[in-house]
Amino acid sequence: MPDAIRFCFDVCCQGTVLEGAILEIIEIPGLASCCHCGTKINLDQPFGICDRCGSVELKIIQGEELKIKSMEIDDLCA
Ligand SMILES: [Zn+2]
Repeated sequence: MPDAIRFCFDVCCQGTVLEGAILEIIEIPGLASCCHCGTKINLDQPFGICDRCGSVELKIIQGEELKIKSMEIDDLCA
């Protein structure tokens, strides 16, 4: 939920040395695999229905990643 993270980031940064910090989120599309027939399904939310067999038992295989890839910090002691 990138929007929730963006909102919390801004709120948490207010009044701290992080105020004005920029959060850059690279969103990865959701992808699931059907537990019954193995069909791969693109998802916009963390649930769905298999296009092929109608099963709702899906295993999410991509899109739940949450990694801090990099952080840039300027020298605060000027
Ligand atoms: Zn299926």
